[in-house]
Amino acid sequence: MVEGLPKTEKVFYQDQYRREVEAVVLAANGRYVVLDRTVFYPQGGGQLGDRGKLVGDQEEEVVDTQEVKGVVVHVLERDTVLRVGQKVRASIDWERRYRLMRHHTGTHVVLAAAKRVLGEHVWQAGAEKTPEKGRLDITHYKTPTEEEVREIEELANFAVIDRRPVRSITMTRTEAESKFGVNIYEGGVPMTRDIRLLEIQDWDVEACGGTHVLNTGEIGSIKVVNVERIQDGVVRLEFVAGDQVSRYASSLEGTMKHIAELIGASEAQLVGRLRRRLEEERRTEDLLRKYREAYEEALVRGVSWTTVDGFRISILDELFDDELSKRVMRRLTERERTVAVQVGKERVQIATSRDVKVEPLIKKLVEVGGKGGGKGTMGIVSIRMEKEAVLKLLSEALRGSS
Ligand SMILES: [Zn+2]
Repeated sequence: MVEGLPKTEKVFYQDQYRREVEAVVLAANGRYVVLDRTVFYPQGGGQLGDRGKLVGDQEEEVVDTQEVKGVVVHVLERDTVLRVGQKVRASIDWERRYRLMRHHTGTHVVLAAAKRVLGEHVWQAGAEKTPEKGRLDITHYKTPTEEEVREIEELANFAVIDRRPVRSITMTRTEAESKFGVNIYEGGVPMTRDIRLLEIQDWDVEACGGTHVLNTGEIGSIKVVNVERIQDGVVRLEFVAGDQVSRYASSLEGTMKHIAELIGASEAQLVGRLRRRLEEERRTEDLLRKYREAYEEALVRGVSWTTVDGFRISILDELFDDELSKRVMRRLTERERTVAVQVGKERVQIATSRDVKVEPLIKKLVEVGGKGGGKGTMGIVSIRMEKEAVLKLLSEALRGSS
């Protein structure tokens, strides 16, 4: 639909703070509208396209903005009722855009800070700016240490509170390259004759076509919230800026409160209380291990065996502790021709020494209504049965097997 249309007048470059503009519809087709001029920034350079509304005969919602061959296309939520030649008022969702501008300018600030801390080899491998956060992928051979990240953050915040003027300059590529070198191409080399440079005074110069704040002070504050190595030689830095910093702090605060509540301590006591809890837990675990060992010994030594045709069989009450149960059953069946059985309210567990097959024993219980199975040396059958009855039944099975 952009064929034959003139390039859109980009009012957002004349004034990045302009929130609305009167314009004339040049094309309107389905959900797409092209105007002669606009304040809507089209997605590009890692910055999301603007949202907002077009007001003609009625109000229409713009959900995205894209650019095709210099023509800015407003993408609406529904099919438009606008007609070519009609006048409209185009206004952007300013709150969202301002967040984008702060995160976008913040990306330049963080990148330059990362270069100062990590070294000149740091290069922008990718970036994305959303209203919620900024994401910057940089070339670096290893994950930055906590100290390096803190240093980047501090340096970036220094550039913010130092209120550095931010300026866009348009010049030819040749002129720009001779003045600033090829380091200006962070987001790839543009194919146009003229390029737009973003200069943060005494801080950084980069080629960039996005929308920025006019002074770093507007960023408010920068907090790095995530650092991860996403591939060999590429590190991702995610940060929040402006009012998102206090949102981030609130969400951390919420998590802290929740933890404090669960532990039953005030936030101030949290670390001390948690440390004590962990110590207690370690002591309890140690104690539990000792009790288990003592109980295991007592069980194994105190077990009574019934001898049936050269087999030995012992019947125990079901053990409620799985770990203990496994160890006891293993130990009781270490000797040849032994069978150890646990009888619970609703099931019978059987373990045998390696030379005794468990299947015939299970079969015997299944014949009287049990459900279950097993193979090798372990089996479980769901059945309600008294210990004496189980012993009698399994003794019969053993007698038959020898
Ligand atoms: Zn930029």
